[in-house]
Amino acid sequence: ADADADADAANDDAVPTLRRDPASCYHCGAFASASCRVDLTLGAWRCALCDVGNVDALYACGGGGSNGGRDAFPELTNAVVEYHLESGSGDGSAGGGGGGDGEGGGNGGVVFFVVDDALDDDEAALLRASLSRVASGLDASQSVGFVTYAASVAVYELGGASAVASAEVLSGAKSPRAADLDAFLGKEEEDDDDGGGDGGGSIGRFIAPARACRAALEAVISSIKPAGRSAGPVAGRARCAGVAIETAAAMIRRRGGPGRILVCAGGPCTRGPGGVRADDESELFDFERATAAAYVDELSSTIASLDVTVDIISGGREAIGAARLAPLADATGGSVVLVEDFGATFESNAARAAARRPGRGPAVTVRLSHGVQCARVIGPVRTMTREAAAAATRCGSTAFEDASDVVRLKTNDPTQAIAVFFQFSRDLPPDAYAHAQFASWDVTPTGTRVARVVSIRIPTVRTKREYLAAVDNTVAGILAGKKAALDAANESIGRLGAAKRLRARVMHLSEVFSPPSAPPPNRPFPGALREFAEAMYHACRGGMLSEMLGHADERAAARGIFLSAGVDVAAPMLSPRLFKRDGAGGAGGFVSVPASDLALCGDAVLFLDAGDCVFGWV
Ligand SMILES: [Zn+2]
Repeated sequence: ADADADADAANDDAVPTLRRDPASCYHCGAFASASCRVDLTLGAWRCALCDVGNVDALYACGGGGSNGGRDAFPELTNAVVEYHLESGSGDGSAGGGGGGDGEGGGNGGVVFFVVDDALDDDEAALLRASLSRVASGLDASQSVGFVTYAASVAVYELGGASAVASAEVLSGAKSPRAADLDAFLGKEEEDDDDGGGDGGGSIGRFIAPARACRAALEAVISSIKPAGRSAGPVAGRARCAGVAIETAAAMIRRRGGPGRILVCAGGPCTRGPGGVRADDESELFDFERATAAAYVDELSSTIASLDVTVDIISGGREAIGAARLAPLADATGGSVVLVEDFGATFESNAARAAARRPGRGPAVTVRLSHGVQCARVIGPVRTMTREAAAAATRCGSTAFEDASDVVRLKTNDPTQAIAVFFQFSRDLPPDAYAHAQFASWDVTPTGTRVARVVSIRIPTVRTKREYLAAVDNTVAGILAGKKAALDAANESIGRLGAAKRLRARVMHLSEVFSPPSAPPPNRPFPGALREFAEAMYHACRGGMLSEMLGHADERAAARGIFLSAGVDVAAPMLSPRLFKRDGAGGAGGFVSVPASDLALCGDAVLFLDAGDCVFGWV
């Protein structure tokens, strides 16, 4: 919990940078930190995590100076340090950063637009205007691809100098086979040689750097036509989103390198694999839904293995079946964002998604004192094989140790966070500290391997009273809320089961922490946990677990954002904060007011900050 706060605090430029490998414990692999006892005359230091003695010539500097020589070693005085590692620059497979060979784009990746082509007139007009601005804002070296989907998939040519939109069309009824792509891309083997530079049968006809295809991209975007009057209601129109996403992923795979798929959706997927055509009263509905779910799950893991991230942004007025598509974003580290229309908010989300560095995020190592274990990690991470973990975290002479947990963040998005749950495997000695060390391992676009290390120590306490005083209500609420959100997404527990578990947890807390003299119905809830209890109240009744707010799409999207969000976003999503504009014309700025005082603020302009959105009453 504290680590999260520390990591946030570390997000400034004051983090000391060390251009060498860290000194690491030969026994457990932990790095020397401010909690280590160090003898700077002999270079001996004792590991804070496993208490084993180490010797490093690095630290044998003879001591002296204002702080006994420690000033020369920022890692011995700072909770957060960043190492630019000497042990080799990263290659895509081992380091795991942006990777790729940099061919065709500054960040080596592709942004592939997958755009709904079955919109109403006004929606299509807004979408064209927004996408046009997103496209003109793309970095000149950014490689781009573009498909649209309705009843079939259109793969647009961007590689030529032509300013006329032209496309190859694929059936929307079934997954594209290799032969279907071969028909316009040429055989796959041939592509490896020409690197996708020019026309002919190569992938370069369809994926090109923005600087070379601005005119073509503009022509493609302005050719997005509304579905027309004969198309019927928005929800029922043929949309083969699954096939379109599959096509985009296959094309990124042929080109090579990481990528981002940006799905701009205006309605549900109804055609081809992943589609659900029947309405929810039909006897076919359950069958179609189960088949679609199995397809999306398989597609998700295929796309994740390609280091491609899928972001889904919907600005349509129809539900898009976000819960069905959410696994694609979850598995690949992307997000599902629902906005009012295809206007300004859609545009800013799309522009941000397109600008993010594609590819796998950093690996993260978690090391803990004896007696403390890492029980659960919630967030956009995936597990790593021992070999991959060893390669990603190699430094100096140390080998990868079993004692640490290593996970890989799915993306490089700076807003994403992970929550780590600890559990005790034995009693900790009183008046001691539990130590934790987190390290993230990344490769910069220029190939430097960077390890950012956060070392924290957490005091142990003797009494329940001391324990209560030490609880960070906000973090405790977020951790419990994230567990509940996961439970709610689990079909065997569900929304109601998750709410029941939360209520049981709150009851249990009052049993454990209230004085034994109080009989069960009258047990006071510990005052130190008041904010935690309030957060749990909101969790049960708010957007996360109740059906009171929004529709299924909105809840699925909100849950996805909450599970991968850091403290800043997750806290208000759980316990919304109310503000009023103070003074004449709001001159006094925003003033926080308790929600219970709402009735007294009848003349004020009120704003509710719910983390992922803000509501205003004027
Ligand atoms: Zn150690």
